[in-house]
Amino acid sequence: MVGNGTKKNAKSGNGRDQATRAKSRVAFVAPFAALLEQVHQARAADLYPFYSSVDPDAVSNGSGRPVVLVANDYLGLAADERVRHAAREAITRFGTSRCSSPLAGGHSPLHTELQTRVAAFLQQESAALFASGYQANVGIVSSMVGRDDLVLTDVLNHASIVDGARLSGAEVRFFQHNSASHLRKILAQEARDRRILVVVEGIYSADGDIACLPELCSAAHEHGAMVMIDEAHSLGVLGEGGRGAAEHFGLLAEVDLIMGTMSKSLASVGGFVAGDRCLVDTIAHSARSLIFSAALPPAGAAAALTSLQIIESEPDRRERLWENSQFFLEELQDRGFDTMNSVTPVIPIRVGDPGKTLEFAARLRGAGVLVCPAIPPMVQSHLSRVRAHVTASHTRESLERAVTVIDEVAAAVGVRRTTSPAPALSGARSRSKKRPAAAELQRA
Ligand code: PMP
Repeated sequence: MVGNGTKKNAKSGNGRDQATRAKSRVAFVAPFAALLEQVHQARAADLYPFYSSVDPDAVSNGSGRPVVLVANDYLGLAADERVRHAAREAITRFGTSRCSSPLAGGHSPLHTELQTRVAAFLQQESAALFASGYQANVGIVSSMVGRDDLVLTDVLNHASIVDGARLSGAEVRFFQHNSASHLRKILAQEARDRRILVVVEGIYSADGDIACLPELCSAAHEHGAMVMIDEAHSLGVLGEGGRGAAEHFGLLAEVDLIMGTMSKSLASVGGFVAGDRCLVDTIAHSARSLIFSAALPPAGAAAALTSLQIIESEPDRRERLWENSQFFLEELQDRGFDTMNSVTPVIPIRVGDPGKTLEFAARLRGAGVLVCPAIPPMVQSHLSRVRAHVTASHTRESLERAVTVIDEVAAAVGVRRTTSPAPALSGARSRSKKRPAAAELQRA
C-alpha cells in the first residue's frame, strides 16, 4: 500500500499484473521501434544532438565562444537589454502567468496592446494571439475549413499547418514546392463552389527559399480560394519594414490571412493571426487551440511588443542580418557545399545521409559550432542536412570561424560537395562569380 511503510508504490501490483501492464506499454511504443533504436544508437555513439541547452548570451559570441547557429533570433533581440527589461517589468506588474485562457481573463493590457500593434504593423484590421506558433497554425486552419472544404498546402509547409489541415476534417492536398503551375493544375480540377484554403510560408523553414507569392496568390484568387501565409521565418526579415514576404512582394492587401510566430524575430514565444476583422473574430472565438489553452504569459507579450517597436525603429538590424547571411551563404557555396535553394538567413547544408548528418553536427558542436541536424522523419533520408540560422548579432569573425570549422569537419566526416572546395578564407576575398548585393538578394 502507498504510504504504509512497505516498499510497494502506486505502480506496483502482483508480479503478473506488472508483467501484463509492462507488455501493454511496450505495445504502445512498438510503432516507434526504429526511431527509438536510432535514438539509442546516437546516444551510445555520443552523437545525440537534441534537447541540449544553449546559452543565449553565446549568440553574441566573442572570440572563443561557441558560434550558435541554431536560434531563430534573426534580429538578435533575445539578448537585447530593452526586451529583457520589458519582460521583467511585465512580471513585476502582471505576474508570471495569468493562469487562464484568453477568453476567460488570460490577457493583460499588454496582450491587448500587442494585438493592436500586430494588426497595425501588418496593415490588417485585426489580430488575435495564440500561446505558440504551432497552436496558431493548428487553430487557424482547423477553424477556417471543415469537412466539405479543401486545403492546398505546399509540400514543404510546416507540420503545424499540416496538423491543422488534418484536424479540420477537410480534404488535404499537397502541391509541389513553390509551384504555381502545379497549384493551378489542382485548382483547375476543383468545383467552383467548394471553399479552398491555400497555405504557403513566406520563407520556407526547410530549404530557406522564398515563396513565389505573386504567382501563387494569383492562381488562388483566380479560382476564388483564400490565401494564408505563414510568416514565421520572414517576419522581421523580409520587406522594407520587416513585415514579411507579403510586404516584400507588395501583397499585404492581397493575402487573406497572415500568421506569424513570436519565437523568432520577436524574441519571445507565441503566435498570431492577422487579417479582416470578420476572419480574425471567427478564429478568436472558434479556434480550439486558442480557446482551450492558457494565454501566453505577460512577459512574453511584453518582449514581443518591445521587439516589434525595435523592428520598426531600427531597420539597420535587418541590413546587418542580410549582410551576414549573404556572407555566410557565399562562403559555404564557394567551398562547394550544397546549400539547396537557400537565399535567406535559413541556410541548410545538405549531407544526404542521416548517420553522417548526426556525426557532422556532433563534431561541429565539439568544435564550437552549433547547427541543427535534420534527419528522417523530419526530412527524407537523401535530403538529410544540417541547418544554420544566421542572425544580425553574429560578428563577421564568428561567421568566418564557423565557415573554417565547417570546412575542416566536413572534410573529416566526408560530407559531399557539389564542386571542389575553394581556397581557405583570406582577408581579401576574391569572387569568381558576380553576386547580388544584400539588398538585391532580399528582393530575389
Ligand atoms: N511555422 C513555421 C514555418 C515554423 O518554422 C514554426 C516553428 N519553427 C512554427 C510555425 C511553429 O512556431 P512556434 O515554434 O513558435 O510554435
